[in-house]
Amino acid sequence: MLALFDLDQTLIDRRGSLVGWAEGFARSRQLPESAQAAICERLRERAYPADFVRLREELGLRDDPSDLWREYLDGIAGSARCLPGVQESLDALRGEGWTLGVATNGAGDIQRAKLAASGLASYFDGICVSEEIGARKPAGEHFEAAAALCGLRLSAGGWMVGDNPETDIEGARAVGFRTAWVAVGRTWPLGRREPDIVASGVAEAVLAIRQTMV
Ligand SMILES: [Mg+2]
Repeated sequence: MLALFDLDQTLIDRRGSLVGWAEGFARSRQLPESAQAAICERLRERAYPADFVRLREELGLRDDPSDLWREYLDGIAGSARCLPGVQESLDALRGEGWTLGVATNGAGDIQRAKLAASGLASYFDGICVSEEIGARKPAGEHFEAAAALCGLRLSAGGWMVGDNPETDIEGARAVGFRTAWVAVGRTWPLGRREPDIVASGVAEAVLAIRQTMV
């Protein structure tokens, strides 16, 4: 059976890393206090090299945007940490013979650097990054590519675990997958069709998924 996982705010604490990096960066350039919030806002959902062209202008920096991207990449990758219980949960699934994949929107270099730095890369049979395959979640093509990278077909079915109600949960349901939403402190948005499982985090989600199999 295939289980796909979103990366940011599902397996790793992207928000915490971003706030920490923005704070250190603003300090290193002696930027005003408002700069940290501006950086976090610009990079809140995602970060691509083009965002650093805009940030350079907004913050009045003289750095080459590609150097800023590199600095961000090194800083964020270096501070990438798993959320609680993630490794144990992936270990348990692997031990039961599951095929595991990552399905993430983002730039290839930084998503792969985060997976390597957090020690997670080796848990997965396939890693699907939107920039590398040319399709973002919730597009069905993204899930199809993720399954293929794991050596499987979408039609064989599986589970998607993620924190985004639209890209992770709606997207995966549309391709026939069962879905587990990790709340990480939020409540499921009113009016949306509910996922199969609502869990506080990955550990609880994986436990519930394993229970459906017995
Ligand atoms: Mg996410």
